[in-house]
Amino acid sequence: MNEFELIQRLTRSLPTNPSVVVGAGDDCAVLDVGVPERLLLFKTDAVVEGVHFTSTTAPEKIGHKALGRCLSDIAAMAGTPTAALVTLGLPRKFNPETVEAIYAGMNALARRHQVAIVGGETTTNPGGIFLSVALLGWVPRGKGVLRSGAEAGDAIFVTGELGGSLAGKHLEFEPRLVEARWLAQHFALHAMLDLSDGLAGDLRHILTASRVAAELLAPSIPISREARLAAKASTSAKPALLAALTDGEDFELLFTVASRDAVPLLDAWRKQFPKLPLACIGKIKTGDGITIRDKNSVQLLAVHGYDHFA
Ligand SMILES: [Mg+2]
Repeated sequence: MNEFELIQRLTRSLPTNPSVVVGAGDDCAVLDVGVPERLLLFKTDAVVEGVHFTSTTAPEKIGHKALGRCLSDIAAMAGTPTAALVTLGLPRKFNPETVEAIYAGMNALARRHQVAIVGGETTTNPGGIFLSVALLGWVPRGKGVLRSGAEAGDAIFVTGELGGSLAGKHLEFEPRLVEARWLAQHFALHAMLDLSDGLAGDLRHILTASRVAAELLAPSIPISREARLAAKASTSAKPALLAALTDGEDFELLFTVASRDAVPLLDAWRKQFPKLPLACIGKIKTGDGITIRDKNSVQLLAVHGYDHFA
């Protein structure tokens, strides 16, 4: 059973109540707790030694990554993060300096985004270090962006460059909170998520939720320097385009807007964020699945993104 089948099975009949606006299945849960003008966002995520980092990872980066993953999901809803709780699992013989350094990395990122850390829990874990963060945030009513709003004809955009994040970016990425809120304030975003499982896999989440298809333009997909270098260095490495499509943990924004907004958006973006690339990589169509077009052909894209249980 793969990760997505497991999640599907577990979320089929979860308890609910009238506060739930959006439950499991989007980047964050969306809750209406009676605050005028605002909806609450709620998210949890975990990093585990041996899966998301190794025993030699700088501890500051472990803390950064654990909170950064949650912040990236708040960004995916165009939200503002507020406060976090942290659960820390440690082997019995832990080094207090390592734990302090994990917190230093987490605290620095939290301060940059005005996030309070308001408590948590520690426990022992014989298997190594794990760190789980639960994060609250908010979004103005009517301004949250879900995965389910993509429409045929929409232009598909992605921020930054994709692939090869294992070379370092997965531990150092900056969640796109400022960019996402700016986008939602200035343009009608139809659908958005943050790339955690790879473009090919995550785009499918938008397509499934929105019941549409997509055509990608291969030459427009922004490929990271790391993915290009890795492909050049070894013939057994993934080709660079495949790495950009399937490598996980890019933590960039993937979103769609009406095609008439595409050119104004690109122009405004370049003025607002001159250092961060934004690429229009294709369009939303009717039907299902992903096709990819290069100068010679149009092919069905068979590859998927990263699966934790594969
Ligand atoms: Mg996400």
